[in-house]
Amino acid sequence: MWAATVFTLYPEMFPGPLGLSMAGTALERRTWSLETKNIREHGLGRHRAVDDTPAGGGPGMVLRADVLAASVDATLDPSDPRPRLLMSPRGAPLTQKMVRALSERTGVVIVCGRFEGVDERVIAGRGLEEVSIGDYVLSGGEMAALTLLDACVRLLPGVMGKGESGVDESFENDLLEYPHYTRPRDWEGRKIPDVLMSGDHARIARWRREQAEKLTRERRPDLWRKLEEP
Ligand code: SAM
Repeated sequence: MWAATVFTLYPEMFPGPLGLSMAGTALERRTWSLETKNIREHGLGRHRAVDDTPAGGGPGMVLRADVLAASVDATLDPSDPRPRLLMSPRGAPLTQKMVRALSERTGVVIVCGRFEGVDERVIAGRGLEEVSIGDYVLSGGEMAALTLLDACVRLLPGVMGKGESGVDESFENDLLEYPHYTRPRDWEGRKIPDVLMSGDHARIARWRREQAEKLTRERRPDLWRKLEEP
């Protein structure tokens, strides 16, 4: 079973949307498991404080290294082979390639940051790899963790329905996906391209490839350049 452990100040946010649809069914079927750990359980004092003011001054608060480390140490076996990720806007951008690699491991450990961020020393001290879901700032790592988990779980064997292998999808092979159509054949005067109704599978495959290349060239020149590199 692919096992996810999430460290958060808001365990109520999980499984959230991952309790529904494909991911939810897979959770019920134990294709994957989800454990949440409330970092506050290791908070300090009567108020279970988890944060403190930034050294050197400045706005906001910082998640304390000692508190987060205590939570991690009380939960994880040191020999746990799963990658330990910290959701962070300054992390490595999450890609489909990374998602596929993570889905092929035994699971993942995710730390959700809050406030201005996490004390740098616990990132190094507990070997956390920073991962970003995009160039924007969320108020906490939980939505980012849900995004990462959703992307991984749908790739686990048996989670997607038959015929939905995911191999043709956007970003697999660095191409965006070709356009889709379904019935009715004519909708508000917009027709399904004739080639898709031809039954000629080789022609259809060629058309889809051309469309995928055209879309990638137009919308994601960064991906297109990567494809053109020798
Ligand atoms: N001060 C931080 C900065 O400028 O990089 C932003 C902190 S943000 C308000 C609080 C937490 O949300 C972060 O510690 C991180 O866990 C999460 N977060 C925010 N944006 C994210 C993103 N794009 N990807 C992953 N996690 C994100």
